[in-house]
Amino acid sequence: MTASAPAVSMRDICRNFMVGEQSVAAVQSLSLEVEQGEFCAIVGPSGSGKSTLLNLLGLLDRPSSGHYRLSGIDTQTLQDSERAVLRNQMLGFVFQQFRLLPQLNVIDNVCLPFVFGGGLQAQGLERAHELLRRVGLSQRERHRPEQLSGGERQRVAFARALVNQPKVLLADEPTGALDRNTGLRMMELMHELHRSSGVTIVMITHDQALAQHCGMRVHMLDGRISQVQRQGAPAAGCAT
Ligand code: ADP
Ligand code: MG
Repeated sequence: MTASAPAVSMRDICRNFMVGEQSVAAVQSLSLEVEQGEFCAIVGPSGSGKSTLLNLLGLLDRPSSGHYRLSGIDTQTLQDSERAVLRNQMLGFVFQQFRLLPQLNVIDNVCLPFVFGGGLQAQGLERAHELLRRVGLSQRERHRPEQLSGGERQRVAFARALVNQPKVLLADEPTGALDRNTGLRMMELMHELHRSSGVTIVMITHDQALAQHCGMRVHMLDGRISQVQRQGAPAAGCAT
């Protein structure tokens, strides 16, 4: 790992899916760099390859070709078990449908990454309490997900995603299942967590207005990046 390496660096990434006899190019010749500490929004129409890209970034899927470095680590040569360790140590995930375990209470859901990653220590538990305090759910630690609203469940999911102090937080439509106001509050919370933790965030959103508040915006179309914008910088087209 290199301190100054970009959080994520992709070069010429392609991901093809075989559907019957036909090959579908979900992501084509895609190159992307997100620096450490950036807040990157990925926008684009349905079917443009956003989730496929996020799965690749999250080491949940392998590209058909191309190179992907995560914090300077070349992910291409890693075994599945090594990728799982990296995923646990360096990445946090938030999904549209929260994906909390219904049989576990809030604090146990937040501590789940420790269960997969070598056991729960006092320090980890302390961090889980602290994150639940920061997302305003200290009073709900013993409640189960079904006893919480959608917005509250997503706040638990954020606490869980950050509990291992990941380098990169990946979020696929985190406000997609929330009403407008709850979604806006969720975004404020994300920006707050981003500022205070310095974590790199890559977030897919359908909502241009929400993307507008992110320092970096990546527009996707037909499996390719059509434009990259950074706050304060002129819009740059992308050749590939
Ligand atoms: P988005 O998240 O932007 O809506 P996706 O990444 O889900 O887009 O999908 C991009 C394209 O790849 C779509 O045409 C989709 O049908 C196709 N695709 C995605 N995953 C698979 C898969 N597992 N098998 C076949 N085709 C897929
Ligand atoms: Mg999607």
